[in-house]
Amino acid sequence: MTQIAILGGGMAGYGAAHRLYSEGASSIIFEKNAYHGGHTMSHRDEFGFVFDEGPHISFTKDERIQKIFAESINQEYETINAKVNNYWNGQYWIKHPAPCNLYGLPTDLVVRILRDLIDVQYRPYGEINNYEDWLIATYGLTFAKTFPMEYGLKYHTTQAGNMTTDWLGPRFYQPKIEEVLQGALTPYSPDVHYVSHFRYPSKNGFVSYFNKFLHWSDIKLSHELVKLDPKTHELHFTDGTIVQYDHVISSLALPELIPMIVGVPQEVIEATKQLACTNCVTVNIGVNRRDISESHWTYFYDHDIFFTRVSYPHMQSPHNAPSGMGSIQAEVYFSKKYRPLDRRPEDCIQPVIDDLRRCGLLSEDDEIVSSHARLLPYANVIFDLDRPAALTCVHGYLDEIKVAYCGRYGEWGYHWTDEAFKSGENAAQKILES
Ligand SMILES: Cc1cc2nc3c(=O)[nH]c(=O)nc-3n(C[C@H](O)[C@H](O)[C@H](O)COP(=O)(O)OP(=O)(O)OC[C@H]3O[C@@H](n4cnc5c(N)ncnc54)[C@H](O)[C@@H]3O)c2cc1C
Repeated sequence: MTQIAILGGGMAGYGAAHRLYSEGASSIIFEKNAYHGGHTMSHRDEFGFVFDEGPHISFTKDERIQKIFAESINQEYETINAKVNNYWNGQYWIKHPAPCNLYGLPTDLVVRILRDLIDVQYRPYGEINNYEDWLIATYGLTFAKTFPMEYGLKYHTTQAGNMTTDWLGPRFYQPKIEEVLQGALTPYSPDVHYVSHFRYPSKNGFVSYFNKFLHWSDIKLSHELVKLDPKTHELHFTDGTIVQYDHVISSLALPELIPMIVGVPQEVIEATKQLACTNCVTVNIGVNRRDISESHWTYFYDHDIFFTRVSYPHMQSPHNAPSGMGSIQAEVYFSKKYRPLDRRPEDCIQPVIDDLRRCGLLSEDDEIVSSHARLLPYANVIFDLDRPAALTCVHGYLDEIKVAYCGRYGEWGYHWTDEAFKSGENAAQKILES
């Protein structure tokens, strides 16, 4: 029987398994962790708080994927209208997206934003070579520099001028001038965020979406790949096991996979070194009350606030926190290439708590029931200007040696869970066709 090996037991790995299973082909998933789920893992702490590895919600518009996810948890999910807000300049809380919700910001700033925005409507910006150009062309100079460029530097760890625009997708709402004026003159604005509503499993966190995926493939947990030989078709694992494959599909992060390949050319190693991604420290806090925020997540622009984004897992499902308690997850971003991690993850806890107090999300008398920090070594791919050429070289090599790649870190893209799943399906489809 043909041996199809899938490397990695996250969304992409299971997407591949799903496609193969649907065609009656068997596969084996090799996963380094002692659990499946990859980045969608959910962790329950000793007090009963459930935290995902970064805030995870399902907002796919693909009805086929919605159905697959929903069936896997017996339709037991919450459907929630997303409320999102922003915190800016040490005191302003405004609804998201910011350009449609300028009401209440300092008048001189609003005037400058409107002037520049109107200006770019009538005097097109010119050639767009990077994300900074795109922001200025879309929102005008003042808004671009005050909001998305500041946030982007915290989130992506590099300047907007060093980034491409091929990742934008629906992420940035491009309002009509009437919408901006309405949101500047009145506190009322329509909900136009690209995530209008989302689903989240009622119990046991986001990873529950895998509940019924597990029979699609045999999974070997605690199997960490250390060597892949494309000539002999061998996979070597830390425990000394060697497995022979006919076809292999990898969802491993390219910077992990490439150095393990026997005979990989130096230029491919060098190209891989150019691939940048953020690392994220999530600080998870359990508190003795639930009324922390009315929003599901908040963006923080100020550079003297330690974290970039904060979410409230008990708002995704009430079962994410013990009765009467609430939870906060703060994300702090670093990157090897642009902003190296300068402390131990646990040393992020106190600065997060201090700044949650400073911006008023926590008060001095709140009881902090639980606090943990977790490092995600691979968070978001950075779409810097080095990425396109480097990725063409790396993917070209993998195509040559017939190692199929998929998922957020195999394709080295900005995939959400549904896209990672479909990326795995596509990789499997190519093998079925071959
Ligand atoms: C902070 C954050 C928030 C996010 N929020 C959302 C959201 O709200 N909604 C959404 O849809 N998506 C969200 N995502 C994206 C989502 O997490 C990814 O799309 C998805 O989890 C990627 O799945 P994957 O299978 O491609 O990668 P992974 O989940 O990383 O799977 C790769 C697997 O390979 C395994 N592996 C690694 N090395 C080895 C080795 N040597 N041997 C064997 N196995 C190995 C890993 O343990 C892992 O299980 C978010 C991501 C982050 C970082």
